[in-house]
Amino acid sequence: MTAVVSAPVAKSLEKARGVVRVGDLLELVPRAYLNPGRLSAFSELREGEHAVVVARVAEAKTRPMRQKRKTMLTAVLRDEQGATLDLTFFSAWGHVDKLLPGRVGVFSGTVSVFNRRLQLAHPEYEMLEHDAGDASDEVVSRFAEHLMPVYPVTGGVTSPKLRRLVQHAFEQLERIREPLPAEVRLRRGLLGREAALRRVHAPRLDDDLDEARRRLRYDEAFVLQTILAQRRARTEALAATSRVATPGGLRDAFDARLPFELTPGQVAVGEEIEADLARPRPMHRLLQGEVGSGKTVIALRAMLTVVDAGGQAALLAPTEVLAAQHARSLRLLLGDLAEAGMLGGSAIGTRVELLTGSQPAAVRRRVLNDVVTGDAGIVVGTHALIQQHVAFHDLALVVVDEQHRFGVEQRDALREKASAPPHLLVMTATPIPRTVAMTVFGDMETSTLRELPRGRSPITTHVVDAARESWVRRTWERVAEEVAAGHQAYVVCPKIGDDGPPDGEEELDEAPADDDLPPEGPDEGPRPLTGVLEMAERLAAEPALAGLRIAVLHGRMDPDTKDAVMRAFGAGELDVLVATTVIEVGVDVPNASVMVVVDADRFGISQLHQLRGRVGRGAVPGLCLLLTTAPPDGPTGERLKAVEATTDGFELARRDLQLRREGDVLGARQSGGRSSVRFLRMGHRDDETLIEQAREDATAVVARDPGLRTHPDLAARVAARLDEEQAAYLERG
Ligand code: ADP
Ligand code: MG
Repeated sequence: MTAVVSAPVAKSLEKARGVVRVGDLLELVPRAYLNPGRLSAFSELREGEHAVVVARVAEAKTRPMRQKRKTMLTAVLRDEQGATLDLTFFSAWGHVDKLLPGRVGVFSGTVSVFNRRLQLAHPEYEMLEHDAGDASDEVVSRFAEHLMPVYPVTGGVTSPKLRRLVQHAFEQLERIREPLPAEVRLRRGLLGREAALRRVHAPRLDDDLDEARRRLRYDEAFVLQTILAQRRARTEALAATSRVATPGGLRDAFDARLPFELTPGQVAVGEEIEADLARPRPMHRLLQGEVGSGKTVIALRAMLTVVDAGGQAALLAPTEVLAAQHARSLRLLLGDLAEAGMLGGSAIGTRVELLTGSQPAAVRRRVLNDVVTGDAGIVVGTHALIQQHVAFHDLALVVVDEQHRFGVEQRDALREKASAPPHLLVMTATPIPRTVAMTVFGDMETSTLRELPRGRSPITTHVVDAARESWVRRTWERVAEEVAAGHQAYVVCPKIGDDGPPDGEEELDEAPADDDLPPEGPDEGPRPLTGVLEMAERLAAEPALAGLRIAVLHGRMDPDTKDAVMRAFGAGELDVLVATTVIEVGVDVPNASVMVVVDADRFGISQLHQLRGRVGRGAVPGLCLLLTTAPPDGPTGERLKAVEATTDGFELARRDLQLRREGDVLGARQSGGRSSVRFLRMGHRDDETLIEQAREDATAVVARDPGLRTHPDLAARVAARLDEEQAAYLERG
């Protein structure tokens, strides 16, 4: 990079977009194009925005500045409607002979208003028509025949500067890698990579840009799919222990005492999992199903299968609260089947143990001992369970609840835990559109639960304008009414509000996940967020809620208190629980009927959808009220409206993807800020097809040549992409 850009610029670009190599510059694609033959209209300019315009100089004046020995220059640009845009330079030096009236140039800078006139102070610019003396014919014709790319300002580096850097990069690079085998290119009718890149950065007026973009998307999909195909091939090459349930064993005993019938979906997915577990290859399966669709039962049956077969199962949750809750509900579901070795315990039973970092040392020691001897057939904990040095007797199956926090790196760490790689089942309540399933989770098999067990009640959602006092009052009255009817309420806030530092693992509880954070819209100024603690105080003083039992729950409380609060709420000893998103997943209190989300605009679509899944879990219909001051027609309002309009998780996931800006989709956490997709449009049907084709092609290439020895360019791109992911992972810690 140093050869092409200065060190500070290189640093900014790396930080903003992960640009490290000269070739990476070429992946910064223009956000728009200007036709130099067509003058821009100034009516579209907005104060404060970074604008790029093609315009003609109408006049230019210099005047001496009194204090300094400098000359100031003001030029006026005029568009075809007669609107003007002023340019000011505090030193005329170097500009006077370029900004000549009648000449056309491309000007860029931040739009400001001065004396009620639009202006650009110190714009960057490039004149398109040159004196015969200072421009070669080549320059002139280049401007006449090409569209001018406009780049998004990247890490403070402006569009004209990026344009020059990109041109320079083309000159510097000896060769542009072609990762696609010729045969694939031909079959799919794709441009070469170099041609596509040149076209995207410097299109001729009549070039087909879509064709070029399509090639770049395919490229990205193909490299990703090659990585995934290699990963699948590696998993497939590993030997795992086959685990089959003993007839008349624990799994059968559990099935026999289930108080309900499994849904057809549960039966089908159960069979897929049993088949996977029976193979001498590690299972690698993603189970998606809405909150309440009955994933836990499926997971438990899988765990019992491996226990039957003499192995152990670990269930990992994203937080300690959830781990404790899982342990409790598994024990509840199992009854005396979870009391092996105890008086009254079933003879074929096992034990469910909870292992967390905050347990007293003595408890922890005992649990660790049971884990290593194998007395604990099922171990529940947080992800720390696989990071720490916990030794298992025979770890056969790992179930991960909520995939978002479980990446490839953790999976690799997991494989080192057992002598043979354990089977892996990852569960997610976030419906995953096909584009994402095939990329982010492309190395896993997927199972989907589409139906909810009977007995679920509908959830109604309303967006409430928090700027209207009467509406807010009405909201609390609704809460009071639900409580009066014998139900309970959640009030969810976006932060704790004690100004304490985020605390490790539980950090997840307070802030919405990166990939759930709404894109910044123009309607979102910085605004103080409501904290749980403050909200609880406010509610205690709220007349409508007088006399109600209100408690708080957040990730920074000590585990015993958290546990006590959850228990009390579950037992109906509390009316209102004011909480962070710590209740996002897993919390199951059927008597809770209403949820109020405060500052709802601070949460993403999928997160809101998950949150509201906490109500309507029993016989009572659920009500979810989203408090916000965001204007209904901005991007934030659109998101909230989508949540209000449907409870279909797949539909919401698609809406979510469409409302996001391109490239943000995979989110910083999932694939790293620098390695998230750049060209693919997730959620788009066209790109779904394209990803499917790339998957097919990449799988074929990897099957013939797993080490990519005959595809050096592809191998290089794959290595670079993996480097990026690794770097992003290390950065995240
Ligand atoms: P998830 O983990 O997908 O959110 P759970 O497995 O926790 O869902 O199930 C939610 C609730 O529904 C639990 O109380 C569970 O016992 C119950 N449940 C699960 N499967 C069925 C079924 N087939 N019929 C009736 N109730 C079920
Ligand atoms: Mg669950």
